Amino acid sequence: MRLDKLLANMGYGSRKEIKKICRTGMVTVDGKPAKDSSMHVDPDVQVVEIEGERVIYREFVYIMMNKPDGVISATEDMLEETVVDLLDEYYYNFEVFPVGRLDKDTEGLLVLTNDGKLAHELLSPKKHVPKRYYAQVRGVVTEKDGEAFKRGVVLDDGYHTMPAELTILESGDVSEIELVIYEGKYHQVKRMFEAVGKKVVYLKRLAMGELELDPELEPGEYRELTEEELLLLR
Ligand code: URA
Repeated sequence: MRLDKLLANMGYGSRKEIKKICRTGMVTVDGKPAKDSSMHVDPDVQVVEIEGERVIYREFVYIMMNKPDGVISATEDMLEETVVDLLDEYYYNFEVFPVGRLDKDTEGLLVLTNDGKLAHELLSPKKHVPKRYYAQVRGVVTEKDGEAFKRGVVLDDGYHTMPAELTILESGDVSEIELVIYEGKYHQVKRMFEAVGKKVVYLKRLAMGELELDPELEPGEYRELTEEELLLLR
């Protein structure tokens, strides 16, 4: 790839700025000054340095965020704060985006990446990647609701949901449950409870596929996925 693209991607400035830096001879490739910023380099094989400091090139980033309430699952917005706004400046050049959406008031596991292929696979309706949610629901949730979810319920637009698994943690005026769904329709969990006459008052995603939300992450916090976690998503 072009040297200026590599350095720009890694946050060393615009291509114009990088051209200037290269002219000074500060940038070296395999120890030799690289005065022409348009030269091609192979970051896996060649050593690129700026004033003797190695530039480690990475193409993809994978982030696990505990999405907080009040932030939208988008890359940018004129009015609202987005999940990408919460990221450190370091990540801006990578152009990450959220894999799927959580509602503005939903918390929990959100993966952000710039790996379009992985995102596509996780979101593909054909893959039926399970998503596990914790919810607080106004109304007494019963085993009958669990049976209805297992059979599938009819949403307000007539869509018949795929079988889902309900676990009742606490049943009362406000019940606590976990629900695993294998699809991702708009407001799906909230609408499934509406279909059985109940209202979700708090919703948090706990897992996507085999990947579990790190309980150490407070709402709004994030970290990169470990190698092992990344393998769970592939
Ligand atoms: N289901 C919902 O209703 N909302 C979400 O944010 C995710 C799943």
